[in-house]
Amino acid sequence: MISKYADLKQNKDLNKIKEAAMSIKEGNIVLFPTETVYGIGANALDANAVNKIFEAKGRASDNPLIVHISNIDMLYNLVKEVGQVEQKLIDNFWPGPLTIIFDRKECVPNVVTAGLNTVGIRMPSNSVAQKLIEFAGLPIAAPSANISGKPSGTKIEDIIDELDGKVDYILDSGMVDIGVESTVVRVIDNKVHILRPGKITVEDIQTLGIEVIIEKQIMEECLPQEKVMSPGMKYRHYAPNTKCLLVYSDNQDKLVDRINQEIELEKNVLVLGRTRNLEKYNTDNKLDMGETSEEISKNIFTLLRKVDSYNVDLVIIEGVKKEGLGLAIMNRLIRACEHNYIEI
Ligand code: AMP
Ligand code: MG
Repeated sequence: MISKYADLKQNKDLNKIKEAAMSIKEGNIVLFPTETVYGIGANALDANAVNKIFEAKGRASDNPLIVHISNIDMLYNLVKEVGQVEQKLIDNFWPGPLTIIFDRKECVPNVVTAGLNTVGIRMPSNSVAQKLIEFAGLPIAAPSANISGKPSGTKIEDIIDELDGKVDYILDSGMVDIGVESTVVRVIDNKVHILRPGKITVEDIQTLGIEVIIEKQIMEECLPQEKVMSPGMKYRHYAPNTKCLLVYSDNQDKLVDRINQEIELEKNVLVLGRTRNLEKYNTDNKLDMGETSEEISKNIFTLLRKVDSYNVDLVIIEGVKKEGLGLAIMNRLIRACEHNYIEI
């Protein structure tokens, strides 16, 4: 391994986290765990350091980064105003997998926000992430740890080949908890607009008596020239090289029948299905997505990274109900399948 590496799987060695925090202070970039996915972090107030993240990922410069904080004072240093609805979201969901978009102060460099006058902020609940930010004493700008376009990294083994040597330090705490990236929201006229679905669900926010609007681009194709509320919506994302097809039905029998029909049409097919359905598919190539939404969200990026090694003509993926965490799973899968989607 070329990058410095700390194994924190058994023991969260604070000295190693301090070393990584020093590296961030010195203007380097560090691969670290959050509760959602792994991130590549830099001092959010240092434009040069943040530029290194864009280089390492090959990320488009018009796709802004989320700034991670460990205490509420950091928020007030970065944003102009925290409204009542934002405060309610913070009280209920921070620390946790919710990114809130605010009007930014001047101190936030343009490279972080892709020139927007807003900035996305989140306070992670993962203890290594919290310590890293606390020891650095700085807000940390961090996108997901992956080369742009690939599935986000949920464990180091999946991303080591593409990121070793590109970051100064790697903090490895094993498999993440959640597996899909944070929910991204923007409050407009007291309503919460969902710009990217995640573990904090529409239903979770509605429970607080807040009106929620799901931006239509979450499930639809979005062209590069189209104006969107969240630039990340328009990029090719998560897609394996092998052609993928997403199939969904409320009715399990119909779902299995349709997938078996699609299997007939191709020579070699790999199916990603739920545990309960796997044995019903007429192909030898199968991968188990798990059963619950929590299991599927945890497994999905690792599975998407495996499919190309099967050398099949088609990958068929079982869809899930677009409800709760299912909305986030379907948002990622529709992109992985490049909108090749059948609903019956
Ligand atoms: P990632 O860093 O890969 O988790 O992606 C971050 C997501 O948050 C992308 O979809 C960004 O477009 C979105 N995002 C970050 N900052 C903003 C912002 N200021 N306004 C709108 N969306 C944002
Ligand atoms: Mg990403």
